[in-house]
Amino acid sequence: SIPLGYFAGLGAASRRGVLVKGAEYLDRLASLSGLAFDKTGTLTKGVFEVRRVRVSEGFSEDGVIRMAAEAEAMSSHPIARAILSYAEGGGISPGSREEQERTEHRGMGITLKEQDRSIAVGNGRLMEDLGIQVPQDGLGGTVVYVALDGRYAGVLEIDDEVKPGTWDHIQDLKRAGVSRMTMVTGDREEPAVRMARDLGITGVRHSLLPEDKVSVLEGFMQEDRGTSGFIGDGINDAPVLARADVGIAMGGLGSDAAIEAADVVLMSDSLGALGDGIRIGRQTRRIIL
Ligand code: ADP
Ligand code: MG
Repeated sequence: SIPLGYFAGLGAASRRGVLVKGAEYLDRLASLSGLAFDKTGTLTKGVFEVRRVRVSEGFSEDGVIRMAAEAEAMSSHPIARAILSYAEGGGISPGSREEQERTEHRGMGITLKEQDRSIAVGNGRLMEDLGIQVPQDGLGGTVVYVALDGRYAGVLEIDDEVKPGTWDHIQDLKRAGVSRMTMVTGDREEPAVRMARDLGITGVRHSLLPEDKVSVLEGFMQEDRGTSGFIGDGINDAPVLARADVGIAMGGLGSDAAIEAADVVLMSDSLGALGDGIRIGRQTRRIIL
């Protein structure tokens, strides 16, 4: 049976916006020693903005943006939303044709087949899989390549901002006893490493496919030997949330699947609440033992 004090602890946590789905998870929060972070939507706002567009010879900027927007038209990925709003801001409306076949490649991008042409929009891995050569030098931030009929057409450089307060929240988690931290992301090396360094997160695993994240977390858990958590917004993260000793989901931005798979949900969508959750877990233990 669950000691009565745990109910008080769960209640206190929920008043701080930390929903803990059971006494054992409050206990695991109290001993959390390692934490793996998803990047997009967890450390960052999850709201991308197009900063720069570069085109290959023979292509216009508007043409490249229109192709990207057409491919992304049905996607709810934060990158798709950024491209669509950028196109809209430039007065570019993606034409909708009758015969279209879109495929979303999770953690890579989108391909669109039309009667007379094919468009691919996504990262370097997608282009590599499709055998399309793309430039790699001098690109900043997260990059989205656009290709037409198997040929590189242009690239969009996009950026996502770190949520305000994230640096402080990470310091707070370290003080609360989380001594090992790592970032796991599908994004490429350069923006991932830079962001982790700026935030004081010492480990980085980048360029991961959604299905890679589970085995990366398992490796992290083995090294940790303590209690390991994973925190994510749930876009493609549900299996990792379920695998962690404590799966922590962002409640606001987070998907229903994430909230379902998680053991702890941060209603405020802010990492700041997690430190409170850990401290409440500790106090609860002290009262009970
Ligand atoms: P994260 O691990 O940062 O949460 P995802 O697994 O959702 O990111 O995506 C990883 C990478 O895959 C993105 O950084 C991007 O390069 C690419 N990608 C995913 N979905 C799309 C899309 N709809 N359009 C373009 N690129 C995409
Ligand atoms: Mg994500």
